[in-house]
Amino acid sequence: MSVTPLLETGVLRRQDPQMAEILQGELERQSTTLQLIAAENFTSPAVLTTLGSALANKYAEGYPGARHHGGCELVDVAERLAVERAKALFGAAHANVQSHSGSSAVLAAYAALLRPGDTVLALGLPHGGHLTHGSPANFSGRWFDFVGYGVDAETGLIDHDQVRHLARNHRPKAIVCGSIAYPRHLDYAFFREVADEVGAYLIADAAHPIGLVAGGAAPSPVPYADVVCATTHKVLRGPRGGMILCGSELAERVDRAVFPFTQGGAQMHTIAAKAVAFGEAATPAFGVYAHQVVANARVLARHLAAEGLAVTTGGTDTHLITADPAPLGVDGRTARGRLAAAGIVLDCCVLPHGEGRGLRLGTAAVTTQGMGEPEMVKIAALLASVLRGETEPAGAREEVRELTGRFPPYPG
Ligand SMILES: *Cc1c(COP(=O)(O)O)cnc(C)c1O
Repeated sequence: MSVTPLLETGVLRRQDPQMAEILQGELERQSTTLQLIAAENFTSPAVLTTLGSALANKYAEGYPGARHHGGCELVDVAERLAVERAKALFGAAHANVQSHSGSSAVLAAYAALLRPGDTVLALGLPHGGHLTHGSPANFSGRWFDFVGYGVDAETGLIDHDQVRHLARNHRPKAIVCGSIAYPRHLDYAFFREVADEVGAYLIADAAHPIGLVAGGAAPSPVPYADVVCATTHKVLRGPRGGMILCGSELAERVDRAVFPFTQGGAQMHTIAAKAVAFGEAATPAFGVYAHQVVANARVLARHLAAEGLAVTTGGTDTHLITADPAPLGVDGRTARGRLAAAGIVLDCCVLPHGEGRGLRLGTAAVTTQGMGEPEMVKIAALLASVLRGETEPAGAREEVRELTGRFPPYPG
């Protein structure tokens, strides 16, 4: 297998062979198994290089031009570049690129707009809401009064009538739209209309689709939401991290909610890597990529359905698919284990109205590797064959090795 120059330095291997072995092993795992986890992707060598740069050493509390540390001349330029690129990419008046993660971005959005005890309307967790949308195990569920809307049992689509009804009854201070498992586009204009009707803020948690938005393959929440929270590491293909977009009226409140309210020093290597990723996402090639991600997901969903899996909402508009494998005689958890043994790596997810657990998968990473529709057809067939017990996991593992061998994520 070819080794990316990133790991060829030899420095780590000489000093700490134990850890070098782990890094090399993980690169091999990612390169020889199928990464179908909907939230994952392969960042570019340019992004990885930036993450491993000297910017990792720099303390930079505050914002460009107003830092609490000396020596910030160059990291200030890096952060300004990230902010300008994010604003241009998404057509936003303001961007904060310091959030350490998607969850930190949501925390800051709540801190900017809400007080503890406020009522918030969000997609319920059993229906695809994120932990930060009111889980009792998370600050959100502890500090706010969450009311959950859901998806329709028949169609799997968000129940707009219920959203409107709950908004009128509970008069939330904010409405959150966004999900970890919803495969369709959200109707942001609808959510804006309901928020306006009841005098609520609209927070779009676009952690998953923001990369598709960047590539013009999904509608943008930016013109509709008061605050847009996102991650930079999912379809967007940047470093692990978060981001917040908003209008100029809320800019100061959002910035103060990130630093100093919820975070300390900014991670300048990650912020610089975000800038690199935004630069990549602004190219025509990324638009082609984003549309191919969706085309691949549609083909994969269609073929999984043809193989007998119950695909939620009957398909997808995005990179993401959820499906119940029960018609093939396995529940989600068993399916995930059997597929992992075959080198097909994906997640389980809750099924809003079903019994057991389903499967959640996405096409962002395999599309970055260069796989297209013929490969999606092959993956669907292999996956179903493993679940039906027609192909032994060990045999499927060899087929996966052959397939991924033709599409190395980091060609040497
Ligand atoms: C992924 C995700 C997050 C959290 O991102 P982390 O970087 O893991 O904290 C938040 N909200 C939604 C909807 C997500 O999909």
